[in-house]
Amino acid sequence: MRYEPQQYKIKDEPMQPFIDADEIWDIITKNQNPSKEQVEKIIEHSLNKNRLSLEETAVLLNTTDPELIEKIKDGARTLKERIYGNRIVLFAPLYIGNYCTNDCAYCGYKVTNKEMKRKTLNHDELVNQVVALEKNGHKRLILVYGEHPAYNANYIAETVKTVYEVKEKNGEIRRVNINAAPLDIEGFKIVKDAGIGTYQVFQETYHPKTYDIVHRSGKKKDYNWRLTSLDRAQEAGIDDVGIGALFGLYNWKFEVMGLLRHVNHFEAVYNVGPHTISFPRIQNASSLDIDKSNIVSDEDFTKLVAILRLAVPYTGLILTAREPAHIRDEIMRFGVSQIDGGTNIEMSGYTNKNEKQDLDSEQFEICDTRTLSEVIEELVENNYIPSFCTACYRLGRTGEHFMEFSVPGFIKRYCTPNAILTLSEYAEDYANEDLKQKAYILIDKELEKLGDHAEVVRKKLKKIKEGKRDLYF
Ligand code: SF4
Ligand code: SF4
Repeated sequence: MRYEPQQYKIKDEPMQPFIDADEIWDIITKNQNPSKEQVEKIIEHSLNKNRLSLEETAVLLNTTDPELIEKIKDGARTLKERIYGNRIVLFAPLYIGNYCTNDCAYCGYKVTNKEMKRKTLNHDELVNQVVALEKNGHKRLILVYGEHPAYNANYIAETVKTVYEVKEKNGEIRRVNINAAPLDIEGFKIVKDAGIGTYQVFQETYHPKTYDIVHRSGKKKDYNWRLTSLDRAQEAGIDDVGIGALFGLYNWKFEVMGLLRHVNHFEAVYNVGPHTISFPRIQNASSLDIDKSNIVSDEDFTKLVAILRLAVPYTGLILTAREPAHIRDEIMRFGVSQIDGGTNIEMSGYTNKNEKQDLDSEQFEICDTRTLSEVIEELVENNYIPSFCTACYRLGRTGEHFMEFSVPGFIKRYCTPNAILTLSEYAEDYANEDLKQKAYILIDKELEKLGDHAEVVRKKLKKIKEGKRDLYF
């Protein structure tokens, strides 16, 4: 199923840099003007459950014929339908502190932004935010930290433990993921022991020169320290890692290739791909100070997500509230596996709701401001099963995206039933009557599709209705 590691000019070694910008550009330029046959063959290759090579991906990136672009998008939609089914995992980001010692041109938290209102949640404030999230029905969080010596591994571990301890009636957080500064191996071991799920570090841009320009000072200026950070996480035993690029800093085709090269590196060195890929797109931010020529249009953005889906068919794709609802809706059809819902990225934003976004206390602007219940309602109405499933992580089934993709029947046996069970919990504890009804209509439809397997799920559903919680397969 997996490719043999490809040979590149820079050989893949653990904790050693692996990006050669000239080589990536070479591959992009050598694969221009693709023919219809070429594009169709590559889509077929992906639909046969193969990860695409850099060359194949470059062919898709260079496709400009609208008819062929539609075929690429169709391919991504087919892959999603054939493999992933219709569940979407929901999470919320929680900003812990916005002090930062770096000067990233594109971010409102940069140290040089004197307008930014700085804050770190104290223990009680953190608890209050988690209570508010639990009251809405959230079960999965990603904690986000600025990059500052105060937010070191011990501090991160402490906040993770606090979050897990907060229980509000039937509410609890069952999986805490982290988006924070790159750590050393010792640091990663400390946060792993606190029971984290995924550790995310986004390279932002894989292009070294651009990286140097937009990261003007601070520890983050060191491209290679960041590039190799998730290798150190792997060395520390964290095998659920998340990579990402901030689209809009440099040429979008290059960034897709950079992400794919990163996937190749992990496979070559650790024999496991990243758990997730994120692809935030630059939006307005307080004191945004970048060259706007690389801003990605909606058209290119939807195309690139479809290409990513085909290029790494077994990796989780995360879409965030930075995107407006109509883009989210289109991209979800390409097999995005996780979205955030009811997001608020203001410090203490889940308890102090402002009508208007305050760009002087946020990292960037969000475009999808729907509440969690609105997002869930829309998913249900569109026949997606909103899921808060955390089963694999709880049962030690790591490499879960690879399993759901490659183990026959995995989705039917585990993912869909767990999505049904967590939706039922949500319906019982947090939904209004109307949404509850809609949720159970969807659940009934899904049970029918499960065939023989429906009976065991029905038994667990009965227990949930009797008041039991946290049941999973
Ligand atoms: Fe700090 Fe991260 Fe913002 Fe850079 S992107 S200024 S490191 S919070
Ligand atoms: Fe993800 Fe595992 Fe749950 Fe499926 S069963 S949704 S792979 S955690």
